[in-house]
Amino acid sequence: MNELHLPRRRWCNFIDGAWVEGSGGWIEVENPATGEVIAEAARAVQADLDRAVSAARRCFDSRVLIDMRPMERGRMLLEIARHLEAMADEIAVVECLDNGKNLTAARNEALAAARYFTYYGGAADKLEGRYIPLGGDYVDYTVPAPFGVSAQIVPWNFPMQIAARSVACALATANCVVLKSPELSPLSTYYIAEACLRAGVPAGAVNILCGYGHDCGAALAAHEDIDHIVFTGSVPTGQSILRAAAERLIPCVMELGGKSAGIVYADADLEQAVASTCIGIFTNAGQVCSASSRLVVHRSVYDRVLEMLKARAEALSIGPGAEGCDLGPLISAAQLDKVEGYCLGAVQEGAEAVTGSRRCEGLKGYFMSPTIFANVSPDMTIAREEVFGPVLAVQVFDEAEEAVALANGTDYGLCAGVYTRDLALAHWTAARLVAGQVFVNEWFAGGIETPFGGTKRSGYGREKGQEALLGYVQTKNVGIRITSGAGGRPGG
Ligand code: NAD
Repeated sequence: MNELHLPRRRWCNFIDGAWVEGSGGWIEVENPATGEVIAEAARAVQADLDRAVSAARRCFDSRVLIDMRPMERGRMLLEIARHLEAMADEIAVVECLDNGKNLTAARNEALAAARYFTYYGGAADKLEGRYIPLGGDYVDYTVPAPFGVSAQIVPWNFPMQIAARSVACALATANCVVLKSPELSPLSTYYIAEACLRAGVPAGAVNILCGYGHDCGAALAAHEDIDHIVFTGSVPTGQSILRAAAERLIPCVMELGGKSAGIVYADADLEQAVASTCIGIFTNAGQVCSASSRLVVHRSVYDRVLEMLKARAEALSIGPGAEGCDLGPLISAAQLDKVEGYCLGAVQEGAEAVTGSRRCEGLKGYFMSPTIFANVSPDMTIAREEVFGPVLAVQVFDEAEEAVALANGTDYGLCAGVYTRDLALAHWTAARLVAGQVFVNEWFAGGIETPFGGTKRSGYGREKGQEALLGYVQTKNVGIRITSGAGGRPGG
């Protein structure tokens, strides 16, 4: 295989329609498959944020997006999608080196990002208000009005897709955006800016900058001139952003973590359940908020399922994404320490490592072996906390009520799964699972079109699908008296 290269070493921020350096110097960007520094991202600090927010404010106040015919706004999004698709091969290389995904997964990420713009481009002229009848003297209607400047903060695991889903929704609804990319994996999001530039998106409508969470991210969330926050990331960061938002009563969409469980009933197609679970937990080396990180298995098939899981996990190839391996690296040395720490703790608490549980020795980057724990009880840390690595905790049950209680038995509520051939049992279970989305017989069943988000500590608000648009608009009611004469209508 040819060696992969980045198109450049230094990556600037995109503010007010132009590429600019950061006032905070440069952030070193590592290739997690080797630990080598491969690029530098301009580091935004308060002064850069102020410029980006005022550019977005100016653009919003100019009404250029609001006054555009929604169909034209939609076409603008389709143009962005077209440019992203055209750049997909280059983006794939960048994401592979910056994030650790293999080339196929990285290219799919670029194409998924493009699809968000296609999907919401098609939706831009279909978001309608209501006519409310008040009798002959009045005309009353509602308008789905944009908030204004939408601040968006993105994590490193799927930076481009997550940025695309939020930026596309914001533009479709005529909001302007200041997006902070993740400092651990910032490069691919710049292609959204490049696509906006090529598509003729008005200057200031989309601003993308990189900075550290504790200063740039926190300052963005607390900025006095933003109107809306979309955050995707961890629970503690979400909580601190919400505290900042509370000061100014800013509406938020919160897409947080998960500890999602699949339930395998005795009648399930075990091949399907096991294959699907492995995709659910080993995709992106388990660094997926909606990962299938727990499996709750009926006692009658428990041993068989463990054997099948072990065989699949041990068949995965581990290595750099550039070599096309199944399981790439974790994002950083700190993430590897954290994941391995969870595994050591699980063993100490009495879980049995069926396979894995250690970092991969002999590889330069941050590689964790695919790991399966059996004999996991609900009180163990490994059953309750999000690991964000390729680590599956398997629990056993006898009765359906017990399976549901186990699946619901964490602070999170992002996703849940059911594997059974019995449609009635699938419905019974789906109705009782406390989660934003339930997958039946296939983990990740759904797509860009299907609403995604959590309950409990997994957050609130929805991204993806048509529901997401509702998180980017506020209902404005316009009531008009159309007849002349003094006085109003008695009785409200
Ligand atoms: P994180 O919360 O550490 O960081 C996310 C983003 O927030 C980064 O851009 C970071 O720079 C920024 N940030 C950090 N501290 C901040 C602060 N004090 N104020 C403002 N911004 C700050 O999360 P992470 O480690 O990058 O991502 C992993 C987490 O994200 C996991 O919990 C995962 O489940 C969650 N996640 C959720 C979804 C979803 O859609 N529900 C998707 C992907 C990841």
